[in-house]
Formats: sequence, structure tokens, C-alpha cells
Amino acid sequence: MFVATKIRIFCYLRSVILSGKELSDRLKAGMAREVATFPSRYGRVPHLAVLLVGDDPASVTYVRNKARASEKIGIRNTTITLPATTSEDELLGRIAALNDDPDVDGILVQLPLPPHIDELKAIKAIAREKDVDGFHPENVAALWRRRTEPEENPQYCVPCTPRGIIRLIKEAGVRIEGRRAVVIGRSNIVGLPISKLLLNENATVTICHSRTVGLGEITREADILVVAIGDPEFIKGDMVKEGAVVIDVGINRRPDGTLCGDVDFKEVAPRASVITPVPGGVGPMTICMLMENTIDCFINRENSKLER
Ligand code: NDP
Repeated sequence: MFVATKIRIFCYLRSVILSGKELSDRLKAGMAREVATFPSRYGRVPHLAVLLVGDDPASVTYVRNKARASEKIGIRNTTITLPATTSEDELLGRIAALNDDPDVDGILVQLPLPPHIDELKAIKAIAREKDVDGFHPENVAALWRRRTEPEENPQYCVPCTPRGIIRLIKEAGVRIEGRRAVVIGRSNIVGLPISKLLLNENATVTICHSRTVGLGEITREADILVVAIGDPEFIKGDMVKEGAVVIDVGINRRPDGTLCGDVDFKEVAPRASVITPVPGGVGPMTICMLMENTIDCFINRENSKLER
């Protein structure tokens, strides 16, 4: 019993807990310094417009956090809050006005939208060059077409959470090329884009979902395991290979109100070489990458003015 406990502590200490909070704070401080130079270089600062329809509590919190992050960095933020009864036409009209506004660099429509509004229609309505979420079909197509990293081709925004995950993995000094990556989840927001980004980095990628048969056998082969399911502590220790890099995207609320991920941290951390916590892992990186996407859109727009 004593020996087992000792080994467990040793193994636990061996794993690196990857703090997205620390990295995002560092990146945001760098962005603040960069944005402070924009008034003299460009005569203005980047401007992010956020549209919130309704008062879903989680969405209200996300939108508030986006406004706070913008403010800290020096990015101008306009949050437009519309009632849940807003018609699709009214929302599309608001988006069109923001597209036409030369002072707006990034537009974000907070999802989910009320059921009477077609989300894809709203996403498609955003001008591609102002689509800071990277959800516009043209930006999605650009991601799936090209092989290069977003940093090499910033004309297209890559969805924020996957972009943040790649940053975190690279920051930890993890080699991606040639390694076996398993992604659980195939959503447009996380699962699919992170799969493509890992593929861009020359990982060999397997995508799993709710109909996957023999999930544990597949996850046990992963050198890099990305979990984006939305099921509290679903991934147990015996589903993870010794020494794997485990990225937990899930954000779930336990019955007692505390947050947890899709990975059972206590069981998995002792086996992993690197693991992200929840909270404080992928979550802070998402907002941080939204800020980067906004700055990228701003710079692209300013540069295109010079080319004209
Ligand atoms: P979705 O509900 O859109 O997708 C969930 C995916 O998980 C689906 O592809 C589904 O499969 C798959 N899945 C569900 N149950 C299982 C299972 N038992 N075994 C295997 N696959 C399963 O969720 P999102 O991708 O939007 O979000 C996933 C999680 O990440 C949520 O907890 C969300 O809150 C969190 N999140 C966190 C962010 C952050 O910043 N940290 C940002 C975005 C999301 P199928 O396709 O077959 O239904």
C-alpha cells in the first residue's frame, strides 16, 4: 500500500500541468504592448464588435469576459445586446451594418442563437475578413485546403479554441510531427478544426465520436489526446497511454457547482506526461486567441488599405 502510494506521487509529480492561464496572461501582455504602438502607426486601435442575442447566462459571461480581455489589451470593444425576440432579419441587418463600418475590424456573433435564428445564415453574413471566430464557410474551407500554419497565413482566422490548443502544445515543447494524435469530438468549433491543425503539423490523426466502437483501444494508442466531448470526467486513467499528452477541452459543471473537464484529472494526470487542467487550461487560451484574431484582422485590413 505504502509503495503504491509512493509510486503514484512520483508519477503524478512527473506530469507537467500545462497552464493556459499563465501562457495567455503572457501573450496578452505582449499584445497590449503591441496594440499600444498602433495609434502612432495606424492612427487607431483594433475594434471588436460582439453581438449577443438573448440573455443565456453562459453567453452573458463569455461576452463579458471578451469585453474585459479586450479592455486590458487596449482593443476597442462594442457589445451589442439584443433581446431574445430579435428577428433573423434584424440580426442580419446589424451584421451588415458592422460589415460596412470601416472602424470595425472583427465581428463575433455569440452562439448559440435563439432557435428561430439560423446560425449558419448569421455566420455566413459576417464579412469573411472580419470573421474573428473563423466559422465563416470560406474561412473553414481555407483551413481545410491549406497545409501551412495560421501564423504563416493570417489572412484567414482559425477558430480560437483549436488555435489556442496548438499554441499550448507547442509551448510545452511537445513534438507533434509523426506522432499519433486522437481527437474525441467532431464539432465545427473544436473537434474538426483541431484535427486539421494537428494534421497540418504532420501528426497522424484519428477522429472519434459518439458512434466510435472500441474508444478505449483507440485512445490508448494516442501520443496526443484531445478531448472535446462535454461529458464530465469521461476519460479515465485506463483509457490513456503512459506518457501521453492530454488536452482537456471540456467545460462542465458538477452538481456542486464546481467546474471540471471531460478528463478525470486525478486518474489521468499520473499517467500523462503533460496535461491541461480545467479550469485554467484551454479556456483562457480561447479568449486570448480571439484577441490575436482581432489584431490579425486589424493588421490585414490596415495593410490592404496600403495596397489600394
Ligand atoms: P459538441 O456537443 O458540439 O460536440 C461534442 C462531440 O463529442 C460530438 O462530436 C460527439 O459525437 C462527441 N461525443 C459525445 N459523447 C461522446 C462519447 N461518449 N464518446 C465519444 N464522443 C462523444 O461540443 P463542443 O465541441 O462544442 O464542445 C465540447 C466540450 O468543449 C464542451 O464541454 C464545451 O463546453 C467545451 N468547450 C470548451 C471551450 C474552451 O474554450 N475550453 C470552447 C468550446 C467548447 P457526435 O458527433 O457523434 O454527436
